Amino acid sequence: MTDAAPKGFEQTTAYVKAPARDSIGDQQDVAGLVENILADVRARGDAAVRDYSVKFDRADVDVFEVSMADREAAVAELDPQTRADTEFAIDNVRRFAEAQLATILPLEVEPLPGLHLGHRVIPIDRVGCYVPGGRFPLLSAPIMTIVPGKVAGCREVVACLPPNAHRAMIAGCHLSGADRIFRIGGAQAIAAMAFGTESVPQVNKIVGPGNAFVNEAKRQVFGPVGIDQLAGPSEIFVLADASGDPRLIATDLLAQAEHDVRTRVGLITTDRAVAEQTAAEVTRQLETLETAGIAGQSWADYGEIVLCADEAAMIAYSDHVAAEHLQVHTRDAHGLAARLRNYGSLFIGENASVVYSDKTVGTNHTLPTMGAGRYTGGLWVGSYVKIATHQWLDDEAVLKVGPPASRQSASEGLDGHMKAAQVRVDRLHQAATA
Ligand code: NAD
Repeated sequence: MTDAAPKGFEQTTAYVKAPARDSIGDQQDVAGLVENILADVRARGDAAVRDYSVKFDRADVDVFEVSMADREAAVAELDPQTRADTEFAIDNVRRFAEAQLATILPLEVEPLPGLHLGHRVIPIDRVGCYVPGGRFPLLSAPIMTIVPGKVAGCREVVACLPPNAHRAMIAGCHLSGADRIFRIGGAQAIAAMAFGTESVPQVNKIVGPGNAFVNEAKRQVFGPVGIDQLAGPSEIFVLADASGDPRLIATDLLAQAEHDVRTRVGLITTDRAVAEQTAAEVTRQLETLETAGIAGQSWADYGEIVLCADEAAMIAYSDHVAAEHLQVHTRDAHGLAARLRNYGSLFIGENASVVYSDKTVGTNHTLPTMGAGRYTGGLWVGSYVKIATHQWLDDEAVLKVGPPASRQSASEGLDGHMKAAQVRVDRLHQAATA
């Protein structure tokens, strides 16, 4: 349509508002800093964690673990409405996680006579939940990472949150069922859970979103410990046709833009009027938004409005972006939704606000960002279990699978393999002729 268009989509799309910065190419280089933090925590344990808490959080923390008395005090400090809202959200997240867990089934099959194959669903022993809370007290954050772990049946669910996080978040960790809670934030929290320190137990898997330092740390510790995914600064895209309401769309875009100056927000539409009116609405609504400092910066840097030639072009660009949150505001929202393939979570129709999922509906708000929606969905109860296979063979199955395994091993030059495959076959032949 014009050359001012997303790269690779010049034929079918045009920017009405282009982003000023590239959200992926623009990731600041935090790798070196994080590498040093990880090595230091690994070597010096609690002492290093204490130093980084002073340096990055200006918090001189003596005892990292939150005592049971303090957990209960934090819950008691909640006003009744906040407590009721938190428990409402916990119940919804738990119910959905339980329903999803019921779909993860053990398996036993006999594909050949006497050959028994299967898998078990085994909860991960100890999971570490990173609960972000640097800038805003995200009350839903502990719920989203801790509750599915408890539903999955993990033996111990450990939570780390920044030392200055709001006490309501400690209450949220407690009400969600965390077995242990530590006041440690950032890369040092990931290091403590990955390697273990004098205070913090080593975990088997680390889950949960966070800022650039948290995500880089998760990326670097992956291997000996598992990670769920890299869930970075939030993203929202809205798909709209002429039926889209620019006021509503602008409100939804800004509701995510206020998370972080690095939030990526966008509208993909087939209608020029909706595109232009949404741009004007964003500007108008920023005038009265209390968080306009962050939201306005994120909109200026990463906000985009893309006008598409038709619905197919809208789908193609949306599948390329693979937005963390994807709202569909079109006449046939369900029809369009069924054709979309890449997203973190899908919000079908104008009633389905991302904010409802962020807080209370029960789907998990920890979702893939930066294009990861092309290969994964978000955090879910399945992230806390292992599907581990097993097998056993009756004699007739050994006679079936042994010879080809033995021949394959011989072709590969793996004499030990060949002997292990053959010895059982030979033993059966000898027994038959004895
Ligand atoms: P955070 O808890 O992720 O990070 C705070 C910690 O970062 C601090 O405790 C501090 O130790 C460390 N830190 C701060 N500045 C540092 C520096 N210069 N060098 C090294 N370490 C430093 O909280 P946050 O910063 O508010 O970020 C939360 C992020 O999580 C946001 O980007 C938000 O969009 C994102 N989020 C994503 C999802 C998702 O599902 N993708 C969900 C919720 C939140």
